[in-house]
Amino acid sequence: SKGAALVSAVAQRLASRKRQVDETLCPFRLSREQLQLVKAKMRAGLEAGLQTKGPSAIKMLPSFVYYTPDGTEHGKYLALDLGGTNFRAMLVNFKKGMQQNARLYHKIYTIPLEIMQGTGEELFDHLAQCVSDFLDYMGMKNARLPAGFTFSFPCEQTAIDTGTLVSWTKGFKATDCEGHDVVEMLREAIKRRNEFDLDIVAVVNDTVGTMMSCAYEDPQCEIGLIAGTGTNVCYMEELKNIEKTEQKTGRVKREEGTPKGEEDKQGDGSEGEKEGDAEIQKMCINTEWGGLGDDGSLDDIITPYDVEVNQNSVNPGKQRFEKLTSGMYLGEIVRQVLLDLTRGGLLFRGHVTETLKTPGIFETKYLSQIESDRLALLQVRCILQQLGLDSNCEDSIIVKEVCGAVSRRAAQLCGAGMAAVVDKIRENRGLDHLNITVGVDGALYKLHPHFSRVLQETARVFAPQCNVTFLPSEEGSGKGAALITAVARQKQEM
Ligand code: BGC
Ligand code: MG
Repeated sequence: SKGAALVSAVAQRLASRKRQVDETLCPFRLSREQLQLVKAKMRAGLEAGLQTKGPSAIKMLPSFVYYTPDGTEHGKYLALDLGGTNFRAMLVNFKKGMQQNARLYHKIYTIPLEIMQGTGEELFDHLAQCVSDFLDYMGMKNARLPAGFTFSFPCEQTAIDTGTLVSWTKGFKATDCEGHDVVEMLREAIKRRNEFDLDIVAVVNDTVGTMMSCAYEDPQCEIGLIAGTGTNVCYMEELKNIEKTEQKTGRVKREEGTPKGEEDKQGDGSEGEKEGDAEIQKMCINTEWGGLGDDGSLDDIITPYDVEVNQNSVNPGKQRFEKLTSGMYLGEIVRQVLLDLTRGGLLFRGHVTETLKTPGIFETKYLSQIESDRLALLQVRCILQQLGLDSNCEDSIIVKEVCGAVSRRAAQLCGAGMAAVVDKIRENRGLDHLNITVGVDGALYKLHPHFSRVLQETARVFAPQCNVTFLPSEEGSGKGAALITAVARQKQEM
């Protein structure tokens, strides 16, 4: 009959549509072998970055942080945190041996796009203005507090309180900053205001701050991970493996290490011990793993959609791993796939709308919502509607599938990368089995419904000899910077 023929024609069309969507998403579905290869490339990249010779895709930047906290930290510190999207100022009060009770006050300031992409002076003047506002708010304008500066971009450090910006990442491109010391730029901006004074003691990557804040509660925490707007990892590396700081390391031992025997004279056993010359064995390395693939090593898994996203970014050719795995880019990858499917007539009745052509419409929070299992398809359609995309039920199923494929690949890639890091630490220590904790922060990890689970599963599969615990940090990067400031300050005072 006519009816039956129509039904079968519709069924055929749907099946063919599904097949074509599957084909489009196929390159996002990485095989076990491909992920194993990513792990191997990450490992090779970590090793190459530790060597002296030449620049490498993974920078492996020394942080001049030698210890995780031990609970003796005390006092009031200001923590300033410039992240991917905002600036936070906070006051942290540590009391000896009371890890759970570190008191904390903070305020969040958004960074307007024109400031992110204006001049360096404008950017740092803006930060100084935020600090001024915070100090007013706390009534501490005249305190000259010791401050830690969390700066979530790659910095070449030669000491704990200097950091030369190597290159901007994420959405930042303020002029006259690359190649300059960001601590100096902040000090100068504060001087220009001529209204308050700060003692900036440390500059810290957000991964390092996150690791430190988690290590404050769990001594097994020797890795920091950010899965947010950008992505990055730091970990405690053996000094003897850090070829490029060998010279500096020698200096560090003489300058900062109290010679054995003098500790007792200070009559401060617990704090003196860790200053011992022989005790300095590790340093935290900010890997900047987001640069994996900048030498072309990930080209075999990069899809045409990733190529498009890279080309439209503010830093084409840079941070290729980050562009496959972090919040700033996942929505853009999804949008590129949706554009392609729509052009092929497989979505939104083939209508390429202005909305769909707008960069940045799919923020991480929408991906998280769309992928939530508790959400009915009708609600997915609602979200798409809010984004100005008129979908039917079929469309919403496909959109959800696209989001799932893109975020799953991101989590798997991070998991494979993490497997490389933990196996390296395990081998460093000559162990058959390693128990280790990773301190984690970032919206993708904390708010996405599946990312953290897939990340953990993948790390487990590809590093079977390691038992990896992920510990979400609270106020991590800022609190960690305050801890580092406390340790650095205690050293200064000795
Ligand atoms: C930066 C890292 C940072 C990470 C997470 C990356 O874009 O290069 O320094 O740790 O984002 O914020
Ligand atoms: Mg942050």
